[in-house]
This record gives sequence, structure tokens and C-alpha cells, in this order.
Amino acid sequence: MRAVQYRSVGSEPEVVEIPTPEPGPGQVRLKVTAAGLCHSDEFVMSLPEGSFPLPMTLGHEGVGVVDALGPGATGVSVGDSVAVYGAWGCGTCHACARGAENYCPRASALGIQPPGLGAPGALAEYLIVDDVRHLVPLGDLDPVAAVSLTDAGLTPYHAIVSSLGSLPAGSTAVVIGVGGLGHVAIQILRAITGATVIALDVDEEKQKLAREVGAHRALHSDDSAVAAIRQLTGGVGAQVVFDFVGAPPTLEIARQSVAQAGRIEIVGIGGGTLAAGFFSTPMGASVRAPYWGTRSELLEVLELARSGAIHVEVEQYTLDEAPEAYRKLHEGTIRGRAVVVP
Ligand code: NAD
Ligand code: ZN
Ligand code: ZN
Repeated sequence: MRAVQYRSVGSEPEVVEIPTPEPGPGQVRLKVTAAGLCHSDEFVMSLPEGSFPLPMTLGHEGVGVVDALGPGATGVSVGDSVAVYGAWGCGTCHACARGAENYCPRASALGIQPPGLGAPGALAEYLIVDDVRHLVPLGDLDPVAAVSLTDAGLTPYHAIVSSLGSLPAGSTAVVIGVGGLGHVAIQILRAITGATVIALDVDEEKQKLAREVGAHRALHSDDSAVAAIRQLTGGVGAQVVFDFVGAPPTLEIARQSVAQAGRIEIVGIGGGTLAAGFFSTPMGASVRAPYWGTRSELLEVLELARSGAIHVEVEQYTLDEAPEAYRKLHEGTIRGRAVVVP
């Protein structure tokens, strides 16, 4: 089969021919119908030797049609259209029992890694999924439109639901970075909270996208943003700041624009750190760095999409065009999410 692999440290992703995998005991093979490109793939490809087993097939956002069942795998049928819940855990600990496999404390010691982030990923013609419980029925959702809900939808949803109590009518939410995750975050905030949404980006096209998907205000992400947020909130600041960049300048904006007793959700992994403390963050404010989302939250995100409340802006590419799509992701010129149809 053909696959998009990151083969050696420092190289560009390549389209290669590799053997089609066979599903082992309990596993399911999907014929991939769509796979999404995430900014985290860039982070993976920036790491030193030994961080991940190489070569590695990329892609941690995947949907497909069940193609073959390994021995003992039951609960899905060949031909079912499914989405992959990618934050694989051990399946048996307390966190996993709650569906929060994204916070499984045992996964790393057991060598369990998500597809595309250690295990072979979805940017290929076929994908092996370790367990039927990682599959969520897609039903009549279009695979290309739905695939990025598994990360670009689920990750902001998890961050927003975690801060839901701070986002009643009259509150303000700031979204920093209107890329794959951020443009869905704006829609989720509009759909399930009463917050006024202020979006920040360095790129004017992304500010335009933010307004199109429901942001009340979209501002340039620079030093002037803090004063603007203070002014728009009557001096109070934002009850929640969602940082989908996580770099030093955006964390500084988050720190200075969050309200007292507010919350900062650092989703982006842009290498910045934020010192929380009595003399650095507003009184009562909390800082959190959430990871991905839970299985039940993925079901909820798919329901939101089914109801028409949220959607992903998609740029569609073929498998051969995936390296070019990664170049565009690097340049920051993707509008919404790049999705590959193998
Ligand atoms: P993306 O490339 O699609 O979007 C990034 C956006 O940020 C772009 O619109 C870009 O213009 C904007 N941006 C860059 N610098 C900025 C700045 N200084 N101020 C404001 N905006 C700025 O990225 P994505 O795929 O949406 O991912 C966003 C971040 O979230 C990445 O760091 C990614 O690795 C991370 N991520 C984290 C998790 C998690 O579980 N915590 C999951 C998925 C992605
Ligand atoms: Zn991701
Ligand atoms: Zn577990």
C-alpha cells in the first residue's frame, strides 16, 4: 500500500510503498477514507533522533471503512464507516474506564502510542486500529468533512468543556490562533457557551476566517491585543483564554488578558512556558495544559457536527500531494485543515 512516512530526522515526509498490514488478534483494519494533517506533526518532525520509531507513517486524525477483522475482533462489521479515537490508553485503568484514555497513566510504560504518534498512522491506504473500542460510528457524516473532528474538533472541545463553568452569558473567551483547532474552537464556543468570542491571529486571512465562523471580534495578535481585550471587557479581562499557539508571545498575551479567577487553557505546544503564581497571574486564575479529549467527548463533537452547529473548513489533497500540504502547513497558509484522501 501507499503511505506518507516521516523516514529520518530532518527529512521531509515522503510517499512510499510499504506492505499492507494484516490485523492481529483483536485488531481492526480500516480502508482509510480520509486523514488530517495537524500542526503537531511538525513538532514530531522537529524532535531529535530516538524520540519516535522511524520510519513512521504519519496521521493521527483518521476515518475509514472497516476492511478486515483480526482474530477475536467483534462489534463492528466489514463496510462500517468509522472514526478513530486516537488517544489510546491501556483500556482498564480508572482514567480509561471513564473514557479519558488521553490521560491514561499506564499507556507510556506499556508502550501504547497513538496512530501517527508512535504507531503507524492514518496517512496511508490502510490503518490498523488496536481495539474496536477506539472506533466510533461515523454514520452519515461525510468522511472528509468529519475526519478532523477527531483532533481539531475534539481537542478544543475538551478544553472548552473543562472550562464550561467559567463561560456563562456575559463572559468573554479569547481564542489565540485561528488554525485547524482554533477555527473549530470558535464554533464550539458559539454553540455551547454564552461567551463573547474574541479571536487573535497574526494573519489577516485567519482573522477573516475567525469572523466567518462566528467570532464576535478578530484582532491582530500583538502587544496591542491585551489593551483591546481589556477595553472590550470593561477592564475585567477574559474569563477564559484558549491559547492554540503556546509560544512565549501568546502566553504573555494570555497572562495579561485573563480575568481574576479566570482560566488559561494552553493547547498549543509552541514551546512557551507560563509561570503561574501570586505575582505573575491574576488572583485566583488557573493555568492548564490539556491533552486531546475523551472518548465520550468525541461522540459529542460528532453530534455537534451532525446537528450542523460546527464544521471544519477543509483543503483536500491526494496522498501524492501530502508533502506539499505539509509545506503549506509549515508556511501557515492552510485555511482550516488539510485533509488527505488516499
Ligand atoms: P495550525 O497551524 O493549523 O494553526 C496555527 C494558527 O496559529 C495559524 O492560524 C497561525 O497563523 C496562528 N499563529 C501563529 N503564531 C501566532 C501568534 N503569535 N499569535 C496568534 N496566532 C498565531 O495549527 P493547529 O493544527 O491548529 O495546532 C495548533 C497548536 O495546537 C499546535 O501547537 C499543535 O501542535 C497543538 N495541538 C495540541 C494538542 C493537544 O492535545 N494539546 C492537540 C492538537 C494540536
Ligand atoms: Zn493533532
Ligand atoms: Zn489506562
